Parts: sequence; structure tokens; C-alpha cells
Amino acid sequence: MDDQAFRIAMGKFATGVTVITTSIDGEAHGMTANAFMSVSLNPKLVLISIGEKAKMLSKIKESGKFAVSILAEEQKEMSMYFAGQIKEQREIDFEWINDTPVLRSSLATIVCDVYDSLVAGDHTLFVGEVKYLASSDAEPLLFSAGKYRNFEKVGS
Ligand code: FAD
Ligand code: NAD
Repeated sequence: MDDQAFRIAMGKFATGVTVITTSIDGEAHGMTANAFMSVSLNPKLVLISIGEKAKMLSKIKESGKFAVSILAEEQKEMSMYFAGQIKEQREIDFEWINDTPVLRSSLATIVCDVYDSLVAGDHTLFVGEVKYLASSDAEPLLFSAGKYRNFEKVGS
């Protein structure tokens, strides 16, 4: 099966966009991810999927914790930046919760301890047990067919 056909088909599933964060010895690391889902209410569990080439993979394995910042529509640039699509290095003013960095002005922030993990092909699935969360009422950033969207306008 062709890789591009797979990406085109998977891109039909419209999602929000998150930035996953963790820290090692107080040093933050972030990466953009749309592979995120809610898993369980009791206990409260969420799931993320991290590619084998992402630096984030070894960092979550080492720290045993991660946070998910669900992005608002104004945070498209943050998504591009943490996907490595903006090449300049920036100083990010993270908010710190339970020694874990999160992005300020996000729609929701969810801080987790790693509850379980599973290597699945070229990705690792991390189930996180939610230790802290907060949310706001802003509009979400959306991602569909490889393009950023919002509820008002369609485009990239
Ligand atoms: P890097 O590529 O090194 O870091 C990403 C960027 O963030 C770099 O510019 C880096 O300088 C910057 N950065 C990181 N930490 C800091 C910090 N503390 N201070 C300042 N700058 C910092 N990949 C997946 O594995 N799973 C997914 O679900 C997924 N979904 C995606 C969804 C979208 C919409 C997009 C665009 C990409 C997605 N990716 C996903 C791809 C992933 O975002 C990139 O491959 C990413 O570059 C991997 O990050 P990394 O951990 O290797 O770190
Ligand atoms: P795209 O058109 O490559 O993505 C469309 C959809 O395909 C995504 O929403 C995802 O469901 C799937 N997909 C893409 N790459 C994948 C991968 N390596 N493993 C599993 N599923 C994948 O989107 P784009 O804007 O061209 O992406 C920019 C970069 O970010 C690309 O390098 C892409 O591979 C990567 N990305 C990775 C994932 C992921 O690992 N889950 C998700 C989205 C984008």
C-alpha cells in the first residue's frame, strides 16, 4: 500500500491540534501532535502516539510524564513551530504545572503520568493518567487534509 494514499485517507479524519510537552531536569521539550484521544473516565486516561524518529519519544520514556496543550485557533504558529516548520529557534514562555511545561493561552491543558505504553509499528502509544487539567472557551485550531482550518474560514 502506498504511503501517500494512507496519509490522504487518514487526513480525511479532521482533528484538533495539540502540542505535547515534557521535561528532563527542568528542560522543556515540545512537539506538535494530532494523534490524541480521550480513553477512559474511570480512571481518567488519554492517549498520544509518538513517532520513532521524534526526539520526544526518548524524553517521555525518561521523564515518565507528559502534558497535552490543545491549541486555540490563534495558536497556528505554535503548531508550525513545534512541528519544526518554522526554522528559527524561539524562547517559549511555558507555564509550569507539577514540574511539567504547558503552553499558555491554550484551549485546554492536560498533565499526565505515563500509565502504559505500546510500541505499534513506527510509533509508540502512550496512555497517560490525568493528574491536572484546565480548559477555556476559545475556538479550536483544526487540521484536515493536511491543512489548518477553523470554524469560520477554510485554508492553510
Ligand atoms: P524537534 O523537531 O526537535 O522540535 C520541534 C520544534 O520545537 C523545533 O523547532 C524545536 O526547536 C522546538 N522546540 C522544542 N522544544 C522547545 C523548547 N523547550 N523551547 C523552544 N523551542 C523548542 N508526530 C508524531 O509523532 N505524532 C503526531 O501525532 C504528530 N502529529 C502532527 C500533527 C501535525 C498537524 C503536524 C504538522 C505534525 C505532526 N507530527 C506528529 C510531526 C511532529 O510534530 C514533528 O515530526 C516534530 O518535529 C517532532 O518533534 P521532535 O520531538 O523530534 O522535536
Ligand atoms: P499529512 O498530510 O502528512 O497528514 C495527514 C494525516 O496522515 C495525519 O493527520 C495523520 O493522520 C496521518 N499521518 C501523516 N504522517 C504520519 C505518520 N508518519 N505516521 C502515522 N500517520 C501519519 O500532514 P502534513 O501537514 O504533511 O504533516 C507534516 C509532517 O508531520 C509530516 O512529516 C507528517 O508525516 C507529520 N505528521 C505525523 C503524524 C503522526 O506521526 N501521527 C500526524 C500528522 C503529521
